[in-house]
Amino acid sequence: MPLFGRRKKQTEVAEQPEPEAPRLPDPPAPSINGLRSMQDHRDYLLSLVEPLPPFGQNLIEAQGLSLCEDIVSHIDLPGFDNSAMDGYAVRCADVAEAAEDNPVDLPVVGEIAAGDGDLPPLAAGTVVKIMTGAPVPDGAEAVIPYEGTNRGSETVRIFAPGQPGLNIRRRGEDVTAGTLLLNEGDLVAPRNVGLMAGVGIDKVLARPRPRVVVISTGSELVQPGNPLTGGGQIYDSNSYLLAAAAKAAGAQVYRVGLVSDDPDEIKQTISDQLVRADLLVSSGGVSQGDYDLVKSVLPELGLTDFTEVAMQPGKPQGFGLIGEHPDDRVPMIMVPGNPVSAFVSFEAFVRPVIRKLMGVEPYVRPSERAFATKAIRSVKGKLQLARGIVTADAGGRRTVELVGGHGSHLMGDLARANALVLLGPETEVVPAGQPVAVWMLADG
Ligand code: AMP
Ligand code: MG
Repeated sequence: MPLFGRRKKQTEVAEQPEPEAPRLPDPPAPSINGLRSMQDHRDYLLSLVEPLPPFGQNLIEAQGLSLCEDIVSHIDLPGFDNSAMDGYAVRCADVAEAAEDNPVDLPVVGEIAAGDGDLPPLAAGTVVKIMTGAPVPDGAEAVIPYEGTNRGSETVRIFAPGQPGLNIRRRGEDVTAGTLLLNEGDLVAPRNVGLMAGVGIDKVLARPRPRVVVISTGSELVQPGNPLTGGGQIYDSNSYLLAAAAKAAGAQVYRVGLVSDDPDEIKQTISDQLVRADLLVSSGGVSQGDYDLVKSVLPELGLTDFTEVAMQPGKPQGFGLIGEHPDDRVPMIMVPGNPVSAFVSFEAFVRPVIRKLMGVEPYVRPSERAFATKAIRSVKGKLQLARGIVTADAGGRRTVELVGGHGSHLMGDLARANALVLLGPETEVVPAGQPVAVWMLADG
């Protein structure tokens, strides 16, 4: 028996499969000249992130967020009949004959200001002074504005009649209790913030702004505001560019700034940031160069996918789920360092991921149509994301012209552009007058 038992145990141990190293789900196969298409890469990244869990947000924080509950009013708005003007609350019968040449004098028995309550009813043959927003007492049927009176204090002379309801805002005429104000999934606009406050709501269930940590890598980088001291130094524009773009997309941004091309510094900085990030975005270090260290050290920190995408600019791309614990991994998008490549990569991949984390659809910027004013040349084999200026022609039709050259270092041209022009891998030339797809960069 003991022998049998021991043998059995050995057999079981031998049959145990090697635990597989965790890795990302299989990425999509290359589809364009051995490269991954932009859409495939974006869909892959989107499949690896989930919307952030919602929680109760203070109303003011909720602006721009996606609601995770229906919002119903529990009160009427207005909550009580109130005056729309400063004037005198009257019974209509008392002023029925009032006119410029036939004024009516009535005693003023009191004054009601906004915020007053517990009002005695208005007796026949009397009026009460009333301010805008003040509750209308029982018995009062109309408000004669100051302009139709001599503004008297003890007695008032009234020169105009009033029909029932004149200058009275009725209880519930705006919103009645039980009305559905907003639907789950709606984005909270400033007007909605005002409405919800108006019905007494101070918190809503919404997905939070993703906390996006932005890091630039490169030993050549200098923090703006400091002098450039060495020959090959440049200012770090990408951490600002990406942080600003992430903020415009709705994120709460932490710009870490620059990290040199030192493996330990890169690892340490990224590890330190995980705790406060829903998404990490880095620039630089993902190409084929000797100092492209993001690509070489990141696999030590989590599950990664480095690839080449059939797009220009923005060909080298990296993605990771960073962190040791499977339940606690933070998505990271690693974009190339040339500023135009970084920005185009942001538009293509980072912005959709931020929107998915926020639960705001559509994740992808809708492409719109603009007509080329001049012929546009493209390079076959890759999706070109050229910078363009879109304007409306005399007939209100949207037209587009490319701005500047193809170089992915041309930041001046990028800043002048207001659109990205998408020229498909098949496109060689778009003749003047023909439509092209554009992404309008209206929100920054
Ligand atoms: P990399 O992707 O690191 O090979 O960088 C490509 C090019 O972009 C190089 O010319 C870098 O100097 C430049 N670059 C990288 N990072 C930044 C940055 N944060 N700001 C401006 N230019 C950068
Ligand atoms: Mg670099």
